[in-house]
Amino acid sequence: MRKKDFSLESLHVSQDSAKCPICGKLYKDSKSETKVIRREGPLFLVHTTCKNCGTSVLGNIVTFDNVVGSVGVLTDLTFADTLYFRRAKRIKVDDVIDLHRKLERD
Ligand SMILES: [Zn+2]
Repeated sequence: MRKKDFSLESLHVSQDSAKCPICGKLYKDSKSETKVIRREGPLFLVHTTCKNCGTSVLGNIVTFDNVVGSVGVLTDLTFADTLYFRRAKRIKVDDVIDLHRKLERD
């Protein structure tokens, strides 16, 4: 059996059957509610905002053959925030130590 390529359209179809974890409404119009932050092969990182209650969820969606799995967390980040943090410089151990020393001095 040939594996299907998991397209963005398939992602939206799978999201159409998903419900908001807060108000329980279906994400009916997921093309406008769900935006892809990052994609690596079959793994999508998405940001979804419920049009009914305004709650946002960051979700990881992965596919294997014809199976779709997902896990999400509630967030107060906007889609624009997620892009900002995605592009931000990574925090290194030395950055944390420098901040700690600065806070001790001040
Ligand atoms: Zn909702």
